[in-house]
Amino acid sequence: MNIALVLVASIFLNTNLLLVERAFYVMGTILEFKLYCEDREFCNKAISDAYSEVKRLDDMLSNYKEDSELSEVNSVAGTGKIHVSPEFIELIERSLFFSNLTNGAFDITLGKLIELWRQGQQSKVLPDSETVKKTISDCVGFDKIKLHSKEELIEINSQCVSIDFGGIGKGYAIDRAVSMLKKKGVESGIINFGGEIFAIGAPPGGSGWRVGIHNPLNSDEPLSFIEVKDMAVSTSGNYERFFVILGKNYSHIIDPRTGMPVETVPSVTVLSKSATDADALSTAISVMGKDKSADVLKKYENAGLLIVTKQKNGIFIYKDSFFQRFEVRNSSPH
Ligand code: AMP
Ligand code: MG
Repeated sequence: MNIALVLVASIFLNTNLLLVERAFYVMGTILEFKLYCEDREFCNKAISDAYSEVKRLDDMLSNYKEDSELSEVNSVAGTGKIHVSPEFIELIERSLFFSNLTNGAFDITLGKLIELWRQGQQSKVLPDSETVKKTISDCVGFDKIKLHSKEELIEINSQCVSIDFGGIGKGYAIDRAVSMLKKKGVESGIINFGGEIFAIGAPPGGSGWRVGIHNPLNSDEPLSFIEVKDMAVSTSGNYERFFVILGKNYSHIIDPRTGMPVETVPSVTVLSKSATDADALSTAISVMGKDKSADVLKKYENAGLLIVTKQKNGIFIYKDSFFQRFEVRNSSPH
């Protein structure tokens, strides 16, 4: 599996802290923990609890599991108000916030479009434009969701709407895992969850965690190195997951307004204090492209952007000033 970001190994001297590393397979990808602790047992217990939390969220938010809360909601869409858990409400609220912020570039109601492109891959036939248009008008659009937050009710006004948390769920799960680790007293560690990273504190003797940003054009050579502390780093890229139809790769990130997979943005990395927000923003900016992302990042402050775009005359890499503040020259620690 191609992990979007490369964690850079660091060697630290003069420390009594132990590095404990463990990895799990959950939400269809690898969840990797590296924690520094004085006591191995303490680290192991903290990691097990954080993993259980992510697993619990997977059981709730997966659209592959028939008995998840999400599958239940999707199966009764269009039948009136449904009672859901406060966490479910919270994630829907955050998702709708990003739909509004990005003029619909980010939209969790695009499940049926994803299904359409997946079917295209299976049948080896590109989805035709009429079917795409009809799917959008009948089954896609964040305005089809109505929340009654206080009453913990959700109302979806069309039967064929299918919610997909693929663009935000891993970030949300990381935020939960990090808050659990911090409550337990973990002060130094890094989590890598298939393209979503969170750096807790700094490694012993260091001022931050060194992270290499995957280069979508050359996997041997990271695009940039950053040093981050208490920060989420989210990368969305079409080099990791895509649909293959008639020998051509189509990104798994789709513009919910046109139904078409993203073609001109191979990779986007967003830095933010919140992994949920970084996750949603990196998916949204993949759809919006560089120019429109500036308006969004003006409103959403304290986020950094690195974007790779494909243009007529070549590939361009843009890093905003917030991102550049965290850049370091190379992978060697300190
Ligand atoms: P990420 O890797 O975080 O960019 O998420 C990609 C996943 O998010 C896809 O596999 C879809 O499940 C979902 N997705 C694709 N396009 C969008 C979009 N425009 N808005 C919200 N979710 C999306
Ligand atoms: Mg995302």
